[in-house]
Amino acid sequence: MTVGETFSITVPLFVLLMSIIGGARHWLGPAIGAVFVTSLTNSLVSGDWALAARALIGFALIAATLYLPEGVIGLIEKTWRGRKPVPAPAAAAAPSTSHEAAAAPAPRKIGAPLLHCEDVHLAFRGVRALNGVTLEVREGEILGLVGPNGSGKSTLINVVSGLYRPDAGRLKFAGEDVTGDDGHRRARRGIARTFQIPRPFRRLSVLDNTVVAGQFGGRGLDHSSAIAQARQWLAFVGLEARAHALPAELNLHQRKFLELARALAAGARLIMLDEVLAGLTPAEITTAVEMVRKIHRSGATIIFVEHNMRAVLALADRLVVLNQGQIIAEGDPRAVMNDAAVVSAYLGDADAEH
Ligand code: ADP
Ligand code: MG
Repeated sequence: MTVGETFSITVPLFVLLMSIIGGARHWLGPAIGAVFVTSLTNSLVSGDWALAARALIGFALIAATLYLPEGVIGLIEKTWRGRKPVPAPAAAAAPSTSHEAAAAPAPRKIGAPLLHCEDVHLAFRGVRALNGVTLEVREGEILGLVGPNGSGKSTLINVVSGLYRPDAGRLKFAGEDVTGDDGHRRARRGIARTFQIPRPFRRLSVLDNTVVAGQFGGRGLDHSSAIAQARQWLAFVGLEARAHALPAELNLHQRKFLELARALAAGARLIMLDEVLAGLTPAEITTAVEMVRKIHRSGATIIFVEHNMRAVLALADRLVVLNQGQIIAEGDPRAVMNDAAVVSAYLGDADAEH
């Protein structure tokens, strides 16, 4: 073989190698492949071995395309990635928190009771908003709390968050009696809620609202850590671009996500979501449901109050139905929704159709 022939064979072979290494995902891979095929065809127009060499190289290209679509580099990258644990999306986006336990790929198991409400009563000028509610929420659970309008869902959340003091009954959180705690102490213990009508501090920016939650919520962060984490939570809920806006400049959807960012910044173990989907478009609902899943995967226990039954069924591990301040059914979401008492409580309630 002459020097020229050797050269004309080794160059295309080298190029073939690069093509396989580069892979098909990068424009360079196919480009190199094309150059290679052209130059190879030109260089192998004669000689006894030409046909065999062309067939061999063609075979190598097909094999590389089929089995190494990302090239050798891609294969190496994949093998390397496979060795490292892939963080859950929530943990990847969120600051380091108690939620970080979430990073574990396996879904969290439902654990010990986190919240226990024992025979809770609360009346407003004769209206029995809660009339002997006994309920348990277990760590790692998404509890769907549903019921017709005025059945006491928001009141129960307000009692758990400490905004309202019950007339009678006891509340335990993480094994401790918290009945006498005010809202601030409950927040520090890790109980957070979003309001059905979002209630941020009007004169504080979106960022500062979230910072305050980090400083004075369950985590009690110093100012600079609270700022750093608030930015991450805002990114997590998709509000980073509105960090310097005032709450009044947000739409309803964004204000609900601000509430969520504040609950997360407060380091909540128990997050109570009060009709966060109301008023959202179907696309926004899909995003919000996915976000609730992410928050749950990140380790939080969730009470999800919602009229949108599709979302409830998609998310809830267990369902509790309130009617006129009393629990009328609880258990497996689908079974509960077929319960005769639940169907009759909802009859005439147009919201149940959603
Ligand atoms: P839901 O959230 O299930 O729609 P609520 O908990 O808001 O129901 O209300 C339960 C009942 O308590 C309703 O009859 C409502 O009018 C009454 N209620 C709730 N909050 C107050 C309040 N702050 N003052 C007077 N009545 C209230
Ligand atoms: Mg309500």
